[in-house]
Amino acid sequence: TKFEDLSLIEPIAKALREANYTTPTAIQAKTIPHALNQRDVLGCAQTGTGKTAAFALPILNALGNQNQKAVPNQPRALVLAPTRELASQIESSFAQYGQYLPLRTCVIYGGVSQHKQVRALARGMHIVVATPGRLLDLIAQGHIDLSRLSFFVLDEADRMLDMGFLPDINRIISMLPKQRQSLFFSATVAPPIVKLAKKLLKNRPIGVN
Ligand code: AMP
Repeated sequence: TKFEDLSLIEPIAKALREANYTTPTAIQAKTIPHALNQRDVLGCAQTGTGKTAAFALPILNALGNQNQKAVPNQPRALVLAPTRELASQIESSFAQYGQYLPLRTCVIYGGVSQHKQVRALARGMHIVVATPGRLLDLIAQGHIDLSRLSFFVLDEADRMLDMGFLPDINRIISMLPKQRQSLFFSATVAPPIVKLAKKLLKNRPIGVN
């Protein structure tokens, strides 16, 4: 497979050409076609395999096609990651792949003042990449409303569980609209991960490793 065969919209194809991406990695080739068809995905993939693009490209493609203005405090896509470093890297990838699309992305994590994050959300963001604790704080304060969310990603789910985020994740899942696409990535797939995946994935999910 080549990226050209995936029929991504031209602004994304252009960003990929400029990044010298020609061939999808294994996880990308196996997940992107299903994700583009609105299927839920359970992807088993380590860091360094290209899993970020595996979820970022289908989301950017769908939102780029919809061409809707961002609504203050109501993101369309939410990506949860375990650490601020990973959340920042994911946000940079969305910004890079989406550089020719009129979509706004921000990153949200704890340990820093929430002021800038609150201002960004109030301007309207299509895509929010977040760590669970700060996300829940901002939701509780009314700065994020998940009712218009169409895409939800849980990245490095096994690390999230190791770090004790399961209660936070369950609370966040309970706030998601029923009509959504969920993409779930984990390096390992132990029983607690399978249980969480079953709870989250609804749309004729496919498992990929
Ligand atoms: P990730 O596993 O998402 O952290 O990606 C690992 C690295 O591979 C990142 O530096 C990406 O920019 C790069 N990368 C991802 N997909 C591709 C691809 N299809 N072709 C070339 N490089 C890629």
